[in-house]
Amino acid sequence: MSTVAFFEVEAWEEEYLANRLQGVELRFSRSALQPAHLAAMSDVEVLSIFIRSPITSNILEQIPHLRLVVTRSTGYDHIDLEACRRRGVVVCNVPRYGENTVAEHTFALILALSRNIHKAYVRTVRGDFSLHGLRGFDLKGKILGVVGTGSIGLHVIRIARGFNMEVLAYDIRPQPLLAEVLGFRYVSLEELLRESDIVTLHIPLTPATHHLMDWSKFQQMKRGAILINTARGGVVDTDALLRALDEGILSGAGLDVLEGEELIEEERALLHMPEAEEKLKAVIRAHVLLRRENVVITPHIAFNSQEALQRILDTTIENIQAFFTGAPQNVVNVP
Ligand code: NAD
Repeated sequence: MSTVAFFEVEAWEEEYLANRLQGVELRFSRSALQPAHLAAMSDVEVLSIFIRSPITSNILEQIPHLRLVVTRSTGYDHIDLEACRRRGVVVCNVPRYGENTVAEHTFALILALSRNIHKAYVRTVRGDFSLHGLRGFDLKGKILGVVGTGSIGLHVIRIARGFNMEVLAYDIRPQPLLAEVLGFRYVSLEELLRESDIVTLHIPLTPATHHLMDWSKFQQMKRGAILINTARGGVVDTDALLRALDEGILSGAGLDVLEGEELIEEERALLHMPEAEEKLKAVIRAHVLLRRENVVITPHIAFNSQEALQRILDTTIENIQAFFTGAPQNVVNVP
């Protein structure tokens, strides 16, 4: 019987999966995959992880019978696809569980900043009901720049049109028909940055998009614009973001993802990690951002609605079953 090991699962997910995945041996761990787990994984054929379990070539070497990695996320930048390909390990993702879920969270961040919800909340719990410094701005009539018009970006555009926003978009694979149907315009990245009041990122983290938003891009932005990032921390150069906030290029930022976000919870362990200096710098930058009043940070929860989690589990079960029937689905590498 094949062994399937799940990491980063909660108790209710364990029960849901155990009731639906028959004919395989299941193992569950609440935590992310860590080196200490590897000794007991020599028989594991299928690994199901979330984004806190990096899959490196070193880890692959220690799971010799591994045939399939199923990430319960859309992004797969935490997995070394090339190393998996070399070892003949298939990698599957969950491509479409949360376009509305992440798009709704994108608007939660936009509205928090446009109406100062975060500041107002902190004040009212202290009993301060003054309006001072809480004037916001309308979304109606503002220009939203959407970078990446895949599943999530398109849903963001649908919501933005509901607010009567004008939408500019940039994508390396534009979909002109959808632009006509949804009422938005594809432009160059330069024009998008120059014209948009709010820029929102919906691209995957790849070598081509790493630090896509660097200092030169921030310099091209409309003064006083807002940046929203629900994609991956690595698409924004955090040093450049801090400078853009300091110099007033940005009047605010809404971030569900941050470079080094995985390190914030483990600050002490950092001291013993390789490249500790770089990692400590990432954590310090994150803390500097956290202290700013015009920055709203959420801890990578854009995906985290009950309905989306249910869809993730259903697709994960289908991915595993499809693999065992010899017709894998949602494959993101070709071994
Ligand atoms: P998708 O694959 O449907 O869309 C990505 C779009 O980006 C595509 O249209 C693609 O052409 C475009 N693109 C790729 N490289 C580009 C580049 N260099 N320049 C411009 N456009 C480029 O993906 P999606 O479902 O819309 O998700 C987007 C990203 O959101 C994921 O890769 C993931 O990292 C992130 N995400 C975050 C959360 C969260 O909880 N914060 C949840 C789900 C997804």
